[in-house]
Formats: sequence, C-alpha cells, structure tokens
Amino acid sequence: MRVLITGAAGFLGSHLTDRFLREGHEVVGLDNFITGSPENIAHLTGNERFRFIRHNISDFTYIAGPLEGVLHFASPASPIDYLELPIQTLKVGSLGTLNALGIAKAKGARFFLASTSEVYGDPLVHPQTEDYWGNVNPIGPRGVYDEAKRFAEAVTMAYHRYHAIDTRIVRIFNTYGPRMRPQDGRVVSNFIVQALNREPLTVYGDGSQTRSFCYVDDEVEGIYRLFMNGDAGPTNIGNPDEYTVKELAEIVLELTRSSSEISYQPLPTDDPKVRRPNIERARETLGWEPRVPVREGVARTIEYFRTLLASAQPGTRTVHGSAPLVVR
Ligand code: UDP
Repeated sequence: MRVLITGAAGFLGSHLTDRFLREGHEVVGLDNFITGSPENIAHLTGNERFRFIRHNISDFTYIAGPLEGVLHFASPASPIDYLELPIQTLKVGSLGTLNALGIAKAKGARFFLASTSEVYGDPLVHPQTEDYWGNVNPIGPRGVYDEAKRFAEAVTMAYHRYHAIDTRIVRIFNTYGPRMRPQDGRVVSNFIVQALNREPLTVYGDGSQTRSFCYVDDEVEGIYRLFMNGDAGPTNIGNPDEYTVKELAEIVLELTRSSSEISYQPLPTDDPKVRRPNIERARETLGWEPRVPVREGVARTIEYFRTLLASAQPGTRTVHGSAPLVVR
C-alpha cells in the first residue's frame, strides 16, 4: 500500500510511519513541525519507501500519485500545546480533516482519523464506552481540542455516509513512550524528566484524578489493526489499567529511584476527573488488547529520557525543538 500520514513527525505519527514501513508499505509523511520534530523521522533519511513533505494539512494540499490510505494524525495533542495554539488546533481538526478527507475521496483511499478520549470530556459514564456522547465544555480552554476532534468525527462520518468513503475513527487514550518531547507537558514525560533532573514532580490538584496509560507500541498495534481490519464505528484504543495521577508520580519516583518531592500545583480548567477506556469493541472486532504493563512501559520510557538527557550537553539547550531544557 501507499499511504499518507499527516503529523508523520509527531510522537504517534512517527511510530505509525515506522510500523507501515516495517510492514513493507510506502509512506508519504506530512508535517509542519509545529509540535512534531525532524529528529523523529531522521532515521528514515534515505529510505526509498518514505517521502517527506513539510506542509500544513490545514492549507490546500495536493499529493501526486496513488494512495490507498490517508491517516490524519496531525494536531497539537498536549494540553499545553493546544492552549498555546488554539486556532491551529481548531483548524487542523476542521480544515485539516476536510482536506485529508478530500484527498482520500479523490484517491479512492481509506480514511483514518486519530480522534481522542477527550471527545468524552469530563465523563459522567465510567469507564467510557464508544456509545457515550460525552460531557464537553465547548467554550472552555480545552474545548479547542475536544470540539475540533468532535467536528472531525462528525465530518468523517458525513463523508462515510454521503460519499461512501471507507473510514475509521480511533479514540486514543493517554499514550506515552519514547519520542515524547521532554517539555511536552503531558504527565508521564513531565514526571520522568522532573524525576531525572531531581526537580519536584508537579502534581496538579490533589492528584486524585485518574488516567489510564497506554504504551506507544500497544497503541500503534491497535491502530494498525483498526486500519487494516476494522470498521467505521469509533473504536477506543487504550489501556484500561487506571491510576490516580498521584499513584503515577509514586511509580515514577520508585522506578527512577529519585529523591524528588511532590509539589502540588493548581488543577487546569476542566481537567477530567476520571478516564478509562472500555475496550470490549477493540477486543471483539480486532482481537486487540494492550500487552505492556504500566511499570514496564514507564521503565522503557525512563531509559529513553535518561539517554536523551545524558546526550545533551550541560547547560541550557533545546531538545526536539521544544522549550529550553535545563540539563544538569
Ligand atoms: N498532570 C499533572 N502534572 C503534570 C502534567 C499533568 O498532575 O505535570 C495531570 C493533569 O492535570 C491531568 C493528568 O495529569 O489530570 C493527565 O494530564 P496530561 O496533560 O498528560 O493529559 P490529559 O489526559 O489531561 O489530556
């Protein structure tokens, strides 16, 4: 197959690109590097089955040649990113999704949308099943991401129904692993980098809010199976093993053997109190379930950041095009 992956230089997009290439497919990768990084795809230089185009999918996009798949993964995905880039986030979920769907329609390709557990908002149903409509504040600061992804799901289903395009929607739950940026802002990378730098771990609120953390290899396996063998219904792909944020902080402290303390910080607006996927649909339709336990995945991610921080020169420098990282 020849597929287009938007956001190919991002955390998930680059792992997915690797997976398609490993399976023998050709990938056209698109990214504008606003949150993605050239370092995530640097190892693909010279790979004849990979072609990279630096471009914003929210602008008009023309891709030459045939395509069998269009996978739309471009979007800021960390709360601090989409708070800083609210308009770009809304555009890539709306205009970007329309452009990507237009390409899929023109090429007769299957379309795959990277959606999110954020469509459930601060959920009143727990764990979250795909038939739950969610509890989202459309005008809050998180609304730019949540509503963009909800619109993206709506327009994907409209193209499916009206234009008979073969479509997939994955709802991704908190995924972590190598290639997250040190200053990404999400909880797993924050805690690990803070613990390794012997800085306080910033727990927002009292740390009693829960998340369910999926290791990137498991997430990519679920996404690949959904693309190949799934159907048009939205599908949760995540690890149902649920932890409070405080428990996660303790796991990171234990696995890094760090003496960092916990520093309690204000809870961001509309921060969901609980989140856990019901994955029965993925189990039944794809035979998929996560395999990497949180302690193992976090240990692998610690090794990644340890190497990354050790390879940085002492002083202040930029890693992965992110905000300056203080390396001690
Ligand atoms: N969080 C935290 N400390 C941090 C970063 C995040 O306590 O340094 C909390 C955040 O308030 C949320 C949870 O961890 O309750 C997950 O946050 P993240 O930004 O990783 O993703 P979200 O699930 O909110 O999109």
